[in-house]
This record gives sequence, structure tokens and C-alpha cells, in this order.
Amino acid sequence: MGSIDNQTTPKPHVAFLSSPGMGHITPLFELAIRLVTQHDFQVSFLVITTAFTPAQSEYLNANPHPDLHIVDLPPVDMSGLVSDDMELGTRLSLIVQESIRPFRSILSELKGPKLRALVIDIFCTGVFEICNELAIPVYSFFTASGVLFTLSLYLPSMDREVEGDQYVETVKVPGCNPIRIQDLQEPVWNRNSDDYKWYLFHCRRLFMATGIFINTWEDLEPVSLKAVKHEPFFLNIPTPPVHPIGPLVKQIEPAVMVKYEKEMIAWLDKQPKDSVLYVSFGSGGTLTREQLTELAWGLELSRQRFIMVVRKPSDYAAATFFNVGSESDDPRTYLPDGFIERTKGVGLVVSSWAPQVAVLNHPSTGAFLSHCGWNSTLESLKHGVPMIGWPMYAEQRMNATMLSNEVGVAVKMHVVGDKGETVVARREEIKRVVQMVMEGEEGKKMRSRAKELEASSRTTLSRGGTSYETLARVAESWKLG
Ligand code: UDP
Repeated sequence: MGSIDNQTTPKPHVAFLSSPGMGHITPLFELAIRLVTQHDFQVSFLVITTAFTPAQSEYLNANPHPDLHIVDLPPVDMSGLVSDDMELGTRLSLIVQESIRPFRSILSELKGPKLRALVIDIFCTGVFEICNELAIPVYSFFTASGVLFTLSLYLPSMDREVEGDQYVETVKVPGCNPIRIQDLQEPVWNRNSDDYKWYLFHCRRLFMATGIFINTWEDLEPVSLKAVKHEPFFLNIPTPPVHPIGPLVKQIEPAVMVKYEKEMIAWLDKQPKDSVLYVSFGSGGTLTREQLTELAWGLELSRQRFIMVVRKPSDYAAATFFNVGSESDDPRTYLPDGFIERTKGVGLVVSSWAPQVAVLNHPSTGAFLSHCGWNSTLESLKHGVPMIGWPMYAEQRMNATMLSNEVGVAVKMHVVGDKGETVVARREEIKRVVQMVMEGEEGKKMRSRAKELEASSRTTLSRGGTSYETLARVAESWKLG
């Protein structure tokens, strides 16, 4: 990375701090790239190196730019503080809490002119006090959906008004569509969980931000964005100015993945248009052995072409969140006997990680079976690819429901039971849904809706488009401030 020292008229300087995880780092880094390449800023991108994965490291280093400086925070010893069975949000919050203990000195040691702003994600709200003292405005970048965003702004009020250990009724966020309890991630309905307490803590602190960026746009989530703008509830609480700037998605693939990329793209090049189903569960998603077996059989029985990212089975749905890219194993040891041989030519199995954006961008890719993480969702829609929603953890159930019921770009697999429990999807059902999306009328409708959103995403991010201009306005205010 280049040096800030020898610039004669220094460009305005902004810093970023992201919690670990590709789903958080990616949108923040894409925003940083935009500020540098389109709005003439220099950026210090602070990286929490504890729980750092090979995928994160490759991604951050894949796109060097002289005005984009990667600053590693000293790693912290988390032994005794976190354990593998700890809920994801709790673990992330604790890692961030420990990593930012020396934050004041980290900021004071940053090279370059005084910071115009610091951009953080939802798990980094512990920096507000220090930044306040140093008169650095803090902007939060909410990297999940508008549906979760409105719920998060509402959560502190809901927590005050509702009694009992658990939320048992449908959640009605003012101005938004009702959310089924089964679609809430467990930490949100289980008020005794550590994850709930941490999430509530961060939601309360969202109100301390000078502004909030959100990775969505009007055509995708009109209901949530309208609610935040016009609904009396949101106008009557001290909601900071909200800036929808999405969809900001990964433009480049980490270099280490290129070895797969060449092979996969060469294979995709030989397949007919819209004929391949891409199957992947984000950076953390892992299936149980039973579910993985059913999925493999379902794909085989569907007789559709596919690319499937596989990981060693686990009973914990987010098992690889903190180490993705470092596992290497032989999928033959956990896929059904003979599966790889029988599907040779029709399917491609890749262990651990695929160059997702390159796959979604390919004309042969016709649908995405996804856990509906928000980045995966945006990447799919930005490339006009309809989805089969297979939610696993965090807010993915809400996303899947919204994408199927409101947006019309997805069909949901039945993987959530009436009580919110995880249900095993069986091979016949998987076969049916895959065939419907790849070959049926419903699939065609979803594909054409996804293509509309692809066009709209291009417009909103181009000069004159809403997301572009929204970011430009904030960037301008930083320059003046
Ligand atoms: N990703 C990828 N290849 C994979 C799995 C994931 O490139 O095999 C990337 C994907 O493109 C996305 C991110 O990892 O940018 C996953 O983020 P998302 O919000 O979808 O889910 P999370 O990993 O946070 O659950």
C-alpha cells in the first residue's frame, strides 16, 4: 500500500473499522474503494486481525490502491473469553471489544490528516465514546437488509414494551410487513440469550451515529425505506439520517481463489445459458451430514447442472464463519458414495470456497441456492440471478421470506418448522424445487424479476442514480466538514 506521508495536498481522510467476517468486511471495503476511486478520499481500513480468515486476507490484499491503506490492529488473546459453541454475535462482540481497547492510540498513530469520519459496522459500536472525545463523527454501515434494519431500530422500543422471556407474537415493526416469529433469528426472540443482549446493546447505540449507511436501494426494499423516511415512529425517535447506498457488492475475487476460477469459468463456458444452479451457503454455512446427503441426492435426482460449494458437515450452522478458506478436505469422505463420479460433467463440486461473484456473473448460471446472507443476496440480484432460499442463521430467514413473498425473486425451501426449528429438507422436495426454478414457469418469472433488479441496481449506482448521489452528498459533506 502507498504512503500518505509524501502527499503535498493531502486528500480528505476517512477510516473504517469492520468486525470479522466476510459479510461485514466486504461491504465496508467496497464502500472504501468507492470513496477512493470515485470521490477522491484516502482511507485507512482498520482490520481486526483476531479471527482473521485466509478468505478475508486474500480479499483485502487483492486490490491495492495508493490511497487505500490496510492497517492491522494488534491481535488479541481470546482464549478463556470465547469458545467455539458461543453464539456468533456474542463472539463477534467480544472479539471487537478486546481488539478496540487500544483504539485511542490506534487512531492517534494513523498516518495522514485528521479523520473526517469513521465508518463502522453494527458490532463495532464500542468506539462511539472515544470518537466523541476526539470529535470524529462515526457513521454506521448497516450491512444487512432493510428488514433487519427497521427491526433493529425498533428493537429497543419493543424490548421496553413487551414482557416475558421470549417474543411470542408476530413482530410488527411500524410501517413494515409483519415478521413471523419463526423468521426471527433465535437471538432476537430469545430475550435471555447473550446474543440478544449484545444485539440490543448495539441497536441502542445505533442512535449515537452521525449517519447510517444501508446496503440496499428503493426498488429492492421500498417498504423498509419508506417506513424509515415517513413513518411517525421512526420520525419520533432520534433516528440518525439514513443513507441507502446499495447494492455495494464484491467486484473482485480473492487471488487465492483464482485457481478454481479458471477451471469453473472454463466449465461454465461450455454450458447452455441459464442452465447451471450455483449452490453455496456463504462464508460460515455448514450442513449436517444428513442434510448434506439429502441435498446431494436432490441435486442428482433433479438432473440439473450445478456447481456446489461443500464443507465438512457440522451440527453447527455457522461452523466455518471464523476460519473459512483454511479448511481443506476431500469431499468424497462426506458426500454420498459415488456422487462425484455419477454427476461428472453435470455438476462441479468445490471444497470450501468458490469465486462467487465470477460464477453469478456468468451467463450460464441460471439460479442460486443460497443461505440468503445479505451479500450473497445482493450479488445474486446484481447479476440478475433468481434464488432458492435456504436460510440458516442470523437474519437469513427474514431475507428469504422477503425475497419470496415481497420481491418475487426467490422460492423458499422448507427448512424452518412452525416452532422455528430447523427442518431437514428431503431429496424429493429438493429435486422438485430445483426443477421448478430451473425449468418451470415460476422460475422464468423469478428470473425476469431478477433481471429487472439487475438493471435497476446498475441505474442506482451510476452517476445520477439514487445510491450514487446519496453517497456523493455524504462524501461532499465530509470534505466540507
Ligand atoms: N463467498 C464467496 N465464495 C464462497 C462463499 C462465500 O465468495 O464460496 C462470499 C460471497 O460472495 C459473499 C460473502 O462471502 O460476499 C458471504 O457473505 P453473506 O453476507 O452472503 O453471508 P455470511 O458469510 O456473512 O453468512
